[in-house]
Amino acid sequence: MRSINFALALFLLVSGCTRGSSGNTTPTAADAKKFMDDVNDAEFKLALEAGQAVWVSETYITDDTSALSARANQRLIDQTARFAKEAVRFDGVNVAPDIRRELNLLKVSLVMAAPSNPAEAEELTKIAANLDATYGKGKWCEAPNKPESCLDIDKVTDIMRDSQDEKRLRQVWEGWHTISPPMRKDYSRFVELSNKGAKELGFADSGVMWRSKYDMSPEDFSKEVDRLWTQVRPLYLKLHAYVRMKLREKYGDVVPANGPLPAHLLGNIWAQDWTNIYPIVKPANADKGYDLTSILKSRKTSAVDMVKTGERFYTSLGFAPLPQSFWQRSMLVRPRDRDVVCHASAWDIDNVEDLRVKMCIQPTDEDFNTIHHELGHNFYQRAYKDQPMIFRDSANDGFHEAIGDTIALSVTPEYLVKIGLLDKAPDASRDIGLLLHKALEKIAFLPFGLLIDQWRWKVFSGEIKPEDYNKAWWDLRLKYQGVAPVTPRGEEFFDPGAKYHVPGNVPYTRYFLADILQFQFHRGLSQTAGCTSILNRCSIYQSMEAGKKLNDMLSSGLSKPWPEALEKIAGTKQMDAGAILDYFKPLDAWLDEQIKGKPVGW
Ligand SMILES: [Zn+2]
Repeated sequence: MRSINFALALFLLVSGCTRGSSGNTTPTAADAKKFMDDVNDAEFKLALEAGQAVWVSETYITDDTSALSARANQRLIDQTARFAKEAVRFDGVNVAPDIRRELNLLKVSLVMAAPSNPAEAEELTKIAANLDATYGKGKWCEAPNKPESCLDIDKVTDIMRDSQDEKRLRQVWEGWHTISPPMRKDYSRFVELSNKGAKELGFADSGVMWRSKYDMSPEDFSKEVDRLWTQVRPLYLKLHAYVRMKLREKYGDVVPANGPLPAHLLGNIWAQDWTNIYPIVKPANADKGYDLTSILKSRKTSAVDMVKTGERFYTSLGFAPLPQSFWQRSMLVRPRDRDVVCHASAWDIDNVEDLRVKMCIQPTDEDFNTIHHELGHNFYQRAYKDQPMIFRDSANDGFHEAIGDTIALSVTPEYLVKIGLLDKAPDASRDIGLLLHKALEKIAFLPFGLLIDQWRWKVFSGEIKPEDYNKAWWDLRLKYQGVAPVTPRGEEFFDPGAKYHVPGNVPYTRYFLADILQFQFHRGLSQTAGCTSILNRCSIYQSMEAGKKLNDMLSSGLSKPWPEALEKIAGTKQMDAGAILDYFKPLDAWLDEQIKGKPVGW
């Protein structure tokens, strides 16, 4: 699953800070430098305290550990908010470029800005917590009087993955979407108040504030995202047409011959990842020819062995091994005696080298990939440890999620042969199975990764009014994904609220960017590694040259604009979805064959 690293998990608030100007004197460049030094020191200490507290609360859930971590987190958030507001007083001061960048980043580090009116700030904090809790407690109960019939998101996810009963899938899909209508009123008030706070920080609205983090104007960033989508859309349309054809063979007329895909039949409650329907759509004679899950299971591979294998990939590129403390302090299997948050995540508790992974590892293909993903966060975190605290982050938020996935793209059959997990790599005729499986994850995700914030940016700007929330949501899902509900979804529903990141107020475009960037990184590093085979068979394993380039980019953290970081690996300052098209070229040709004479689009 898509996980978050700790540094990115902090959802910052501006509290109602009453501190005014700094007195009568105009601040100087030296004052600005001193201010940022103090900020970096204070953030370092507060982040350590919060990191330790949150780690304990997630690996040992009790009322007490939850309270302690909430308190430590709040201290960090409040202090950061005060700093962000204070930074404004250096706006007109002529300071060194590095300090200017630090000040700017401090101001845009907020995901949610509260108005300075204390009553409104308190109302916003409460609403945000309520929205988050409403989602977290969300359950659909088939028989309201029987608690054992209630389905939480985990159970809903299992059914969407495993069931092929159209009626049951529809029932569960509609059931889960009953959790969100109560959020609607809160959400529109949340938009009003958070916009008010954003305006006080100098942004037109919260959506503009979110888009101000990308080293370009918010307008240019919107255009950039559109441009990337235009590049990859033709391939998505082919995948969509092929999947529609196969689903129609399976489910009949509920799947239209030339219309949108029914939202409940794609193996995932949000239709954001279609890998679970692979058994329905898999090619007849091009299965990938091996099953990593069975290999890992038959060898009784332990969780530690799987992580060691992942670590060896990174050390083969020239990275230093993980510190001893990683092995002592990580949580790699589900403990038998207590409740924990199993959702995989990578941590850097002290923002130096106290790296950890928290995960409940099973010997499966999926977890094998997830380990490479999480370790990507860890090696990134350690690479930028010598930067000033505020630069200890990825070049943009898409980069952090992309690194581990880039490495996972190098887990090719040839790599598995090299490390002794597979005897012989299947020949290229089996690639279609591998590529289709990957496309159901990565290509299917792109329009979804894009549209969540298309909806939110318009909601924040006022272009989408509260009375049209649901209509606008489904208009966008139809426009980008070609996905539609099978029954009318009027304004009595609030379907965006059934996706965590909306009530949780987590920006989402980073996942779209990560999906694009990882293929661009993979192509750039594969070229550096001297790979001459087809891109989906390239692995950068054991390439010190590729490792050197990667480390060069990772170690610059957030200190330079992201196009400069990108250039170090990709040789260009532009994001380019063309690498995705290169990677999936064989599949693209195969899809053309499959959908010949069939309708494309909706
Ligand atoms: Zn992640």
